[in-house]
Amino acid sequence: MFGIRDLPADWFTKPISYGAAHDRVRRVHGRADMHVCVDCGHRAQHWSYNGDSEFEQSGEIHYSHGAKTFLRWSTDTDAYSPRCRFCHAAKDYGFTRAPWTPADLDALAALKGMTVAQQAARLGVSPSTIDRMRRALRERG
Ligand SMILES: [Zn+2]
Repeated sequence: MFGIRDLPADWFTKPISYGAAHDRVRRVHGRADMHVCVDCGHRAQHWSYNGDSEFEQSGEIHYSHGAKTFLRWSTDTDAYSPRCRFCHAAKDYGFTRAPWTPADLDALAALKGMTVAQQAARLGVSPSTIDRMRRALRERG
């Protein structure tokens, strides 16, 4: 870990690759799976670019299997948040993300001992959502 004062003057402005940006995030913040997803509270799996950095870079990425895609990234490690793969996909591709927040998981944890039906009624969500939230709670540990 290093302080902002130790950074090279061109740390934010010098072009770096998508992979180098992700390496940088891991170096500064650690592995994504040591954090919880900022959107749903599951254990995170990826570092996810928030998309709002003033130091944004972008380009076409070529995968080894021949596919290519256009991606954005940032030299600023604070422009990244830990996300589970579902919320990461939701953020990047507009998929439906988990319909609960970390605060909702806290509320569910406080209802420990109740049945799924009771918890669903109390939180105003469907029993299947409660099942998924219970799994998220277990993963959060
Ligand atoms: Zn998530």
